[in-house]
Amino acid sequence: MALGVYVHIPYCVKKCPYCDFNSYGVGKRIPEEEYTEAVLKELDFYRGSIEKRPLSSIFFGGGTPSLFSSESIGKIIDKIEGITFPLDSLEVSLEVNPKTADLEKLKSFREVGVNRISVGVQSFSERKLKILGRINLPDDSRRVLEEISRAGFVNFNLDLMYGVSFETLDEWRLDLEKALEFNTNHISAYCLTIEDDTEFGTLYSQNKLPLPDEDLLTDMITFTSEFLERAGYTQYEISNFAKPGFECRHNLLYWRGENYLGLGAGAHSHLPLNDDLSWGMRFSNLKNPALYMKTVKQGKKPLAFTEFLNKQEALEDRVLMGLRLREGINILNLEERFGIRPSTNRLGILINDGFINISDDFLQLSKKGILVSDELILKVLDSFAFE
Ligand code: SF4
Repeated sequence: MALGVYVHIPYCVKKCPYCDFNSYGVGKRIPEEEYTEAVLKELDFYRGSIEKRPLSSIFFGGGTPSLFSSESIGKIIDKIEGITFPLDSLEVSLEVNPKTADLEKLKSFREVGVNRISVGVQSFSERKLKILGRINLPDDSRRVLEEISRAGFVNFNLDLMYGVSFETLDEWRLDLEKALEFNTNHISAYCLTIEDDTEFGTLYSQNKLPLPDEDLLTDMITFTSEFLERAGYTQYEISNFAKPGFECRHNLLYWRGENYLGLGAGAHSHLPLNDDLSWGMRFSNLKNPALYMKTVKQGKKPLAFTEFLNKQEALEDRVLMGLRLREGINILNLEERFGIRPSTNRLGILINDGFINISDDFLQLSKKGILVSDELILKVLDSFAFE
């Protein structure tokens, strides 16, 4: 089974008020050299587990990886590639904040092996960007998107966000229309979610953050999917749309329950154990970057949490992630691995009411099902009962 490597860069210029990622607003005070050394050293701890394994993707996420220089990013890519067995189709993605990259920098990322860029545009509306507390303005996004093409990238994604205070369907439509002008092959469209430990979480709990109602959000979701499909994109995951062949390989690893190693502060991993009878292990790193670096320097794995999965947990992971995909879950693979099929009796009503489809040995959510995916996923999970 192919492997992906995720590298977390936890630094941002400024923390956005809605963000609950492991990211820290540090202005220009970025300990780039020290952090890069820590990631390189951490990689050595896993040499035995990943040596010569086929490598399908590397993903630099954050935080804001584009704050780092191409020298640092290149050193990490070289070391990962030197240990593993990179496939010819290797995808190397890097997240870019429009305010933190220019043509020269983008070219230099390409020279060190990055071949896919994901741009955190979020919106082309100045009003929305202001509410979201973003450092980028619409002009920054327009500039960087043009420069990405000029730097020679054909594979790039635009992240967009809807569901912001006082947003209308028209404002969201303009974002989508604008996005299409840049000939991107991939668009991620996320609904703003309110997380507890954020500034937005506090405002929301004090009733100070008005949000679009459920009906409008449902209209936005339906509109997005119809609009982008008309423009030639396939909704291959609940929030992700791609032209054929441009689906994000790295994210597909997560959704298909495959293996990945996470490096850097707070990064998560999912790796098999050496014993074939085991169901794999998950672990995550210390979130605090300073503590992460200190622990690695002391020659210790910077682990915060380790879990050995049992059969039920491994199955739950597969179903939870797999149902996010348009292709759904491969029932035959599941049967081979877990010796279990979903009970069509238990799923009968959901099939009859058009929420899920079972076709060609795949179980998938329908368009109607995607609108209530959270509830459905739990019901589908219930239909897998071990003898
Ligand atoms: S730039 Fe991205 S990672 Fe950084 S704080 Fe904003 S949303 Fe979070």
